[in-house]
Amino acid sequence: MLQLVIGIVIFAAVGAVAGVFLSWLSGKFRVQESPAADRIYEILPHTECGQCGHPGCRPYANAVADGKDACNKCIPGGRETALEIAKIMGIDPAEAETGEAPAPGAAFIDESRCIGCGKCQTVCPVDCIVGASRMKHTVIRKDCTGCGKCVKACPTECIIMDEIKESPESWDYEFSEESLR
Ligand code: SF4
Ligand code: SF4
Ligand code: SF4
Repeated sequence: MLQLVIGIVIFAAVGAVAGVFLSWLSGKFRVQESPAADRIYEILPHTECGQCGHPGCRPYANAVADGKDACNKCIPGGRETALEIAKIMGIDPAEAETGEAPAPGAAFIDESRCIGCGKCQTVCPVDCIVGASRMKHTVIRKDCTGCGKCVKACPTECIIMDEIKESPESWDYEFSEESLR
């Protein structure tokens, strides 16, 4: 009986020590993220498309907060998000537009080669591809974030990414050059 009690006490003591040690380790190696990075992350579109050149929104937010990347790299967020980020970082809004921003792109399906397999629809994170099984599919380009995931999924290589040309419909009047002055 005594042996059983001693065994339980030793087991409990080892468990308690291991718990304290693990808690100390998690505190020591926790990745420190700045409040600015958190605020930037909150306003990003969270499509995780990678067009900013980072593997996702969180790494991009961290890079901007650390001064390692510019405010205007998020394509789905556009100019409005760039200006919001500039505000958080306390920099001149005009600076948010300096530096080369990636060209906004959207997917386009060559319907003559589409076999209607639906694989592109399955991977689209914003659900902007329409089409029924074994029927031609098409992209609602105004909702496309340009992540390119459908391009990789298409077995017939009938999806291309092309640049969105500026037009009276796509021009952002609210955030035009004049509004920044
Ligand atoms: S481009 Fe914008 S939405 Fe896409 S991963 Fe980067 S921060 Fe996120
Ligand atoms: S249509 Fe293609 S490029 Fe556009 S958001 Fe969907 S998966 Fe991404
Ligand atoms: S993956 Fe390609 S072939 Fe299949 S439905 Fe989409 S566009 Fe058509």
